[in-house]
Amino acid sequence: MSFSLKTIPLHQSFLKLGEQFLSEVKPTPFKTKSALIHFNESAAQLLDLKDGIEQQQLFIDIFSGKHLLENSRPFAMLYAGHQFGHLNPQLGDGRAIIIAEMHNKKKQKWELQLKGSGLTPYSRDGDGRAVLRSTIREYLCSEAMHRLNIPTTRALCITGSDDEVYREEIETGAILTRLAPSHVRFGSFEIFYYRHQYDHIRTLADYVIKYHYPELLSETNPYLALLTEVIKRTAKLIALWQSVGFAHGVMNTDNMSILGLTLDYGPYGFLDNYEPGYICNHSDYQGRYAFEQQPNIGLFNLSCLAQALLPLIDKSPDKAAELAKHELEKYQTIFSSDFAEQMRLKLGLKESYDEDQHLVEDLLNLMKNDHVDYTILFRKLCDFVTVNISSTNVNNQDTNNNSAIRDIFIQREQFDQWENRYQQRLIKEDSNDKQRSIKMKRVNPKYILRNYMAEIAIKKAEADKDYSEIDRLFKLLQNPFDEQPENETYAGLPPEWSNEISVSCSS
Ligand code: AMP
Ligand code: MG
Repeated sequence: MSFSLKTIPLHQSFLKLGEQFLSEVKPTPFKTKSALIHFNESAAQLLDLKDGIEQQQLFIDIFSGKHLLENSRPFAMLYAGHQFGHLNPQLGDGRAIIIAEMHNKKKQKWELQLKGSGLTPYSRDGDGRAVLRSTIREYLCSEAMHRLNIPTTRALCITGSDDEVYREEIETGAILTRLAPSHVRFGSFEIFYYRHQYDHIRTLADYVIKYHYPELLSETNPYLALLTEVIKRTAKLIALWQSVGFAHGVMNTDNMSILGLTLDYGPYGFLDNYEPGYICNHSDYQGRYAFEQQPNIGLFNLSCLAQALLPLIDKSPDKAAELAKHELEKYQTIFSSDFAEQMRLKLGLKESYDEDQHLVEDLLNLMKNDHVDYTILFRKLCDFVTVNISSTNVNNQDTNNNSAIRDIFIQREQFDQWENRYQQRLIKEDSNDKQRSIKMKRVNPKYILRNYMAEIAIKKAEADKDYSEIDRLFKLLQNPFDEQPENETYAGLPPEWSNEISVSCSS
């Protein structure tokens, strides 16, 4: 039995925490007629919704904020956050409203949140709306990340309207339905720390542990254990981002999920050529959230969380600080080990040797110097052929079986040296080309969501209400590791004009 729009079982666990944690507020419907722009069947299955549910007018009405689910008590969450390093003591969902908390048949908890559904008490100077452009970007990317096996919020659908929304120019308003087991952020704890409302920190931590980390209840110090777990999950998440070339763009603490999910897709970007200093957010003038800074920012953000948890960790402030510091000090090691593991997988290495770190670093350096495309290179490396170096004529590279990879580089002699080391390394563990290739193609995607791809889908949607490209990309990115020969053009280098695309926080 699947759920209809009348039988979705609603729960109110977060709502019951009370008004100190949220504000009850109803979505504001669009002024103009709304329409379904895209629907994600697999997300609907996750919620155990009935097949074909999206064809009902009631579905569009509910997910465009016009109609409430029966017994729904929608609310916006309260939080603070460190934005670009500075504390903003009062934020909260300024344009997002949770319309339902439901449990699917497996008893998994999901919050359904409308992003762009109008003003809330936390809207400050904002209009409570999201533009179609940013909604498409979040929708496509969150699903792409999920298919890349990276923890993330999900998305159920996009609804759109003709309502005018004012940004740098006039755009149209849309609503994304975002799904997450919980939308609690680091900033959800910080707000009560800075307000000295320590009881509320405890209430929230108890809630998060009860519903999302129940295994920690048996720990002697569950709050310290919570910090440890979040450190582990965040390190793992950022290692995955780095391994796939994903830059988040706005790693403020209000965008950091307590569950270690990728949260809030704004001006994100995937690397084209490997450029560690890549800044995807054009409003990030200092490069605080540059690609290579993400691991450090992860630690900064975890320190903010740790500080907010101090009152729970120990009665003695000194002891609490010492315990938290001890946990935070493990972050760098955990991150390095997670990242090394991801890169070993990307290179198809079964065993682990000290020299591997240099092998990875030297490859990345070569890629940086020669502006090599990150995704394309790693995908090509999946077809690397091991040969006995002494039997080939290294001076005549035409005979080199790996010439397709070699040709990508400008400084080919330097690549030859690296190739030689990679060859030796693979031979050392008796690597089998065929088996390695299969495994590597499960971790080195052929297709990622490059900015230019999203841009084409956005332009068609904005200009002609033509949503076909959203659908094409959506399907393409459901299987990023498959060959999909009919989609080969999406696996190539981005077009020249893609450099001119500018994405910022304005969304
Ligand atoms: P973001 O950079 O999208 O994570 O947003 C930071 C804060 O600004 C959050 O509290 C958002 O809810 C709020 N915000 C962003 N855009 C708007 C908007 N158009 N209207 C109201 N609040 C907004
Ligand atoms: Mg945010």
